[in-house]
Amino acid sequence: MDNNPSKAISQHARTRRVILFPFPFQGHISPMIQLANILRSKGFTISILHTQFNSPDPSRYPQFTFHLIPDGLPEDQASKGDLAGLIDRLNTNCVGPTRECLGKLLSTHDDVACMVTDAMMYSSQSVAEDLGIPRIVLRTSSVCSFLAFASVPVLLEKGYFSDILDSRREDPVLELPPLRVKDIPGIQTRNLIDVELKIIRSMVEGTKTASGLIFNTFQDLEEPNLANLKEHFRIPTFLIGPFHKFFSAASSSLLTQDRSSISWLDTQKPSSVIYVSFGSAAKMDEKDVREVAWGLAHSMQPFLWVVRPGSVQGSAWLESFPNEFLEVVSKRGCIVKWAPQQEVLSHPAVGGFWTHSGWNSVLESICEGVPMICSSLFADQPVNSRYVSDVWQLGIKLEYGLKREEIESAIRKIMLDRQGQEIRERALHLKEKIDVSLKTDGFSSQSLNALSDLISSFKSSGVSVGSE
Ligand code: UDP
Repeated sequence: MDNNPSKAISQHARTRRVILFPFPFQGHISPMIQLANILRSKGFTISILHTQFNSPDPSRYPQFTFHLIPDGLPEDQASKGDLAGLIDRLNTNCVGPTRECLGKLLSTHDDVACMVTDAMMYSSQSVAEDLGIPRIVLRTSSVCSFLAFASVPVLLEKGYFSDILDSRREDPVLELPPLRVKDIPGIQTRNLIDVELKIIRSMVEGTKTASGLIFNTFQDLEEPNLANLKEHFRIPTFLIGPFHKFFSAASSSLLTQDRSSISWLDTQKPSSVIYVSFGSAAKMDEKDVREVAWGLAHSMQPFLWVVRPGSVQGSAWLESFPNEFLEVVSKRGCIVKWAPQQEVLSHPAVGGFWTHSGWNSVLESICEGVPMICSSLFADQPVNSRYVSDVWQLGIKLEYGLKREEIESAIRKIMLDRQGQEIRERALHLKEKIDVSLKTDGFSSQSLNALSDLISSFKSSGVSVGSE
C-alpha cells in the first residue's frame, strides 16, 4: 500500500490554512519546508512567513504563498559569528512585523487554523496569543536534546555551570544519563551568558504554553525519553519523522549542490568512501583543518569532504590547506563546496559519514543505514552525538575534539573493523523500523493523522470570526 502522504490526501482534508514560520538557518528551513509539503498533502493550504536573512526562494514553491517579515538585521549580521545575539535579535525584531502580517492575513482570510513556528522563533508565541491563533511548535532536533535544553535551568541551579574545571568535564550528569558534563547545551563556552540562558528559557517556556509540539524524529529511536518529555511538556506531541522520507530536502538547499560529487562517487568501490560534512553553520580554525586533513590522509580511505566557503576562519575556501594534503586529495579524495547530501548518503560507494551531529544529518544517515563518526561543537550537537554513540550505538564519538590520531583510528574502525560492521547491521535494522513506522498503520503515520485532526479541530480564525 502506498503510504506517501503526497499521494494519499487525507479523507479528512479541508481547505484550512496553516501559517508556518521557520527559523532562518538551513537545518531549520529544510524540515519546515518538508513539513509544509506534508501538511499540504493532508489537504491544508500553506502560507509561509520568512525573514530577509537566509530567505528561501519562493519561486521554487509555487504551491505555497510567501510573506516577507522584515527582520531589521544589518547586512553583515551573519558574518559576525554571534549566534546567540542573532537569535535574540531575530526574535525581538520580528514581533511587530509578524503581528502586522498576521493581522493582515486574518483580515483577508477566514480559513486560518493555526501557526506552526520553529521552537527558536519563541517570540511568535505571544503574537499568536494576542491574535487568538493557536501556535504549534516545530522542534527540528531530537527529543533527547530538547530535554537537555529543558533541564538547563535546573542544572544551572545545581551548580553545573560554575567552575567548569577540565577535570569535571567527563563526569556523568546524574539527572540526564548518559550525558557527561561537557555535553550539556550551552556549557561548551564554559560560562552560560545571559542571552543564551534567556534564549533557552524562552524556547522552553514558549513551547510549554503552545497548543502542540512536533518533532522530526521517530518513536523507535526516542522511546526511552518520551515519558520524561510528557512530564516537561503537557501538550499534545507528535513524532512524525523522518520528514525527508516524505519529501527530500534538496529543493530547500540555500547553497548550490555540486553534483560532481556524485560522478566522483560513481568511480569508487562499494562502501569504500568516508563522507565528511560539518553542516551549514560550523566553522573551523586552521589548526582544526590540519588535524582533519591529516586524519583523513593517514586513514588511507577514499573521502568526500564538504568544505563550505567561509567555513575555515581566515580563508575564502581551501587557501589554508597544506599543499601536501591537496596532493593526497587529487589521488584519493574529492572536496566540494556543498553536496547533494541525501543522494551522497544513499550512494553505494559511501561506507561511513563523519558528521558534526546536526540533527538532519544524523537522521539522514540513520535512514540510509550509514555508520557515523560524530564530532560536535555546540547547541544540540553534543547531546545528539552522545546518543548516537552510547545509546543507539550507531557510531563512534570523537571525545576529545579534532586530533589526527583519533580521527584516523575512528575512520578505520568504522570502515574496516568488526565494530563498523556491527554498527552497520544495527543501522540497517533501524532503517527497517523507520519503513514500518511510515506505513499507514505505523507510528509516524498515525501521529501525522492525529496532528492533522488537531489542526482541523481548531476554530477558524479570520474575518468571519472578527465579524461574529
Ligand atoms: N547538507 C547538504 N549538503 C551538504 C551538507 C549538508 O545538502 O554539503 C544538508 C543536509 O542534508 C542537512 C542540512 O544540510 O539536511 C544540515 O542540517 P543539520 O541539521 O545536519 O546541520 P546544521 O546545518 O543545522 O548545523
